[in-house]
Amino acid sequence: MIIVLRPNLTRKDETAVLKEIKRLGYHPHIMRGVARTVIGAIGDELTHKSLESLLTLFPHAVESVMPVQRRFKLVSREAHPANSTINVRGNVIGGRKIQIMAGPCSVESEKQLLGTAEAVKAAGATILRGGAFKPRTSPYEFQGLGEKGLKLLAKARKETGLAIITELLSEEHAELVAAYADIIQIGARNSQNFQLLIAAARTGKPVLLKRGLSTRIEEWLLAGEYVLSNGNSSLMFCERGIRTFETYTRNTLDLSTIPIIKMESHCSVVIDPSQGSGRADLVSAMCKGAVAMGADALLIEVHPNPAEALSDGAQQLSPEGFARLMAELKPFIEAAGRE
Ligand code: PEP
Ligand code: MN
Repeated sequence: MIIVLRPNLTRKDETAVLKEIKRLGYHPHIMRGVARTVIGAIGDELTHKSLESLLTLFPHAVESVMPVQRRFKLVSREAHPANSTINVRGNVIGGRKIQIMAGPCSVESEKQLLGTAEAVKAAGATILRGGAFKPRTSPYEFQGLGEKGLKLLAKARKETGLAIITELLSEEHAELVAAYADIIQIGARNSQNFQLLIAAARTGKPVLLKRGLSTRIEEWLLAGEYVLSNGNSSLMFCERGIRTFETYTRNTLDLSTIPIIKMESHCSVVIDPSQGSGRADLVSAMCKGAVAMGADALLIEVHPNPAEALSDGAQQLSPEGFARLMAELKPFIEAAGRE
């Protein structure tokens, strides 16, 4: 920690601050400048008590307290310098190949899901997405098929060989969802539901953690820390847009999270351009940008008839649109040095 003292302090004040720093287990290193004295408090910030208390104990003497270590430990590259990879039924996320996760927003019926699964597989997707438990803004909107939807996902996996990703909405369903899913999705609305994150982590299944509607990057990384610190090393971060003043798009897809998460963390980054823009006509451009910026996977909504979808119709691609997108993306993926 770096502690900046106020100017013109008495030695008595300085000694009192140093004493408290030592009491909390840190070794103080004093640097006297012309205008200011700065103390470097040496010790593990993650295991020692915070020195923020100095601000309230000595308001007349301490101007600021700044951490130098990251608050997220296991998620950071300090803990794991190389990129981590996750193997999902033979599909490696975080490796050279950009994995495509595609499928409907919601699982609606056997015909809808199986038809979509066949189509996205033929176009190159390796993982099938589909919500069985849906976090809807209104309680009067389609809430998902629940376990029946999970069974349909398992059937689609059996018939196509695609791995499946589906959302876990509540702790009580953790075991149930884990019994079917290859990847557990934690949605934007639950991004900081820490008990749910712990429950998801403890299933042992890989976890895809979406960014919340107004979650800051550090908060998101710390939410990820809940997964890793609960014995699950298979975590990916998924940017799906944040809430801003802009209304042209449903959300503002923050692609800057790709290089930032890559700098800070070893975990994979997934981009969801569907929730991210809310508009089918923007999905392709967003995907191209994401690929150029180093995304490890894309999560794309595809529906056999978007106009009749029970959720998120405006942003879902038709199977034909998805096949076109995959063809368009190919040169961008190659130019990024990926497969
Ligand atoms: C979804 O993937 O359909 C979904 C509900 O996502 P989010 O949690 O990002 O809104
Ligand atoms: Mn959706």
